[in-house]
Amino acid sequence: MPKRLKINTLLKGDLCGQEVCARGWVRTKRDSKSVSFINLNDGSNQMGIQIIVDTDIENYEAILHLNTGAAIEAVGKLVDSPGKGQKFEIHADQIHIYGNAPGESYPLQKKGHSLEYLREIAYLRPRTNTLGCVFRIRNGLAHAIHQFFQDRGFIYVHAPVITASDAEGSGEMFQVTTLDLKNPPATEKGALDYSQDFFGKPVFLTVSGQLEAEIFALALSDVYTFGPTFRAENSNTSRHLAEFWMIEPEISFCDLDDMTVMTEEFLKYLLHYCLEHYREDLEFLQKFYNKKLIATLEGIVQSTFKKITYSEAVDVLQKSGKSFEFPVQWGADLQSEHERFLTEQHFKCPVVVVDYPKDIKAFYMRQNDDGRTVAAMDVLFPKLGEIIGGSQREERYDSLLERIHAMEMNEKEYWWYLNLRRFGTVPHSGFGLGFERLVQFATGMDNIRDVIPFPRVPKHAEF
Ligand code: ATP
Ligand code: MN
Repeated sequence: MPKRLKINTLLKGDLCGQEVCARGWVRTKRDSKSVSFINLNDGSNQMGIQIIVDTDIENYEAILHLNTGAAIEAVGKLVDSPGKGQKFEIHADQIHIYGNAPGESYPLQKKGHSLEYLREIAYLRPRTNTLGCVFRIRNGLAHAIHQFFQDRGFIYVHAPVITASDAEGSGEMFQVTTLDLKNPPATEKGALDYSQDFFGKPVFLTVSGQLEAEIFALALSDVYTFGPTFRAENSNTSRHLAEFWMIEPEISFCDLDDMTVMTEEFLKYLLHYCLEHYREDLEFLQKFYNKKLIATLEGIVQSTFKKITYSEAVDVLQKSGKSFEFPVQWGADLQSEHERFLTEQHFKCPVVVVDYPKDIKAFYMRQNDDGRTVAAMDVLFPKLGEIIGGSQREERYDSLLERIHAMEMNEKEYWWYLNLRRFGTVPHSGFGLGFERLVQFATGMDNIRDVIPFPRVPKHAEF
């Protein structure tokens, strides 16, 4: 009995003429008078492999009743395929049926289904061509991210998921508690008695691993996190999830300029990696979803990112003559429509906007000498707007404390973060890349819900 091999390995053809074994799920089956044709898919590629089954096979009666979705094993000779669209096929000697599927009541039929429908059956959608392509690319990007950082001597750090600190200061956090919500314990003053909660104080799901990554950067020099983050923001957009994965490098002895250089190199590396390793999947997605996908990715890899200050961006937007839904005014945050105008229409390439007004950015960003901006950086991509947000961190104790006071934050909660500025402080910078935004861009999918296995958005937490 030959060893089971994945279909993408078999299709390399090295074993042509030999007995092979494939296992997977039936995508389609067509019966003619003398043979049946099965397209088998095991997730290792988009095309699957064709299995030819002669009518004189032992269990042909059962083969006739095989339906889309059935799980089988095919053993037989790998041969050159005379058919169009595939180089090799398996001429089966034996078919073992693990589990048939019910025919018409199987939720995935041969015809294409809408992405909305597939979201409702998220437990089956990885079996579709589209989601198969997306999740192979997602996996490849995760691998490439680790490779990029590991090749450069970065150390992978795992930030906690449960935390007491609100890194972004935006208050959009999910609380974690074991208190009985029907009968919560009260203090004498009538407030919620957190001393009885699991951790003895209020805690939340993390919105960012940055503050913890800084601790490690100030010991191990170059680090990155890659983990789940959570935001209880009530935004029902095609670019927001309540649970998403974030990559957060944190680099010591690095200023904003050095970091923007690395950021551009990083994004190009990742998209280049996709083009090199996932051509077949990209071609499928291009054909059905986004006619310019491959050219767009190639365009970014070959482009030079345009770097401008926030003030310059405001100027460009004000002089554009466009009527935006949100007015453009120095001091207001750039909205998605502004970001997209800059990258899609004005500069026609990725744009790095630096030096944002301090009042719209987080407390930890380093104050510039002008007294009104901070060393922040957002990377804007066509279709998405912001894909990366980062900054040089405030490494000066007095300036940091001043910001904490100015923003009316509780200085006591950040005691350790402040102490890092007293114990061997150094200039350091970092950014956050939303993993799903990257996958969305690389796959050309319009909705972020189609690039994460089980999307969590307001009012939806199925599966
Ligand atoms: P946006 O303005 O698009 O909501 P943000 O300014 O809130 O983004 P940051 O706090 O800087 O984003 O987070 C870093 C990165 O994480 C963003 O650049 C983006 O790629 C990603 N991100 C932020 N919020 C979400 C979300 N709700 N779902 C998916 N990705 C997100
Ligand atoms: Mn946001």
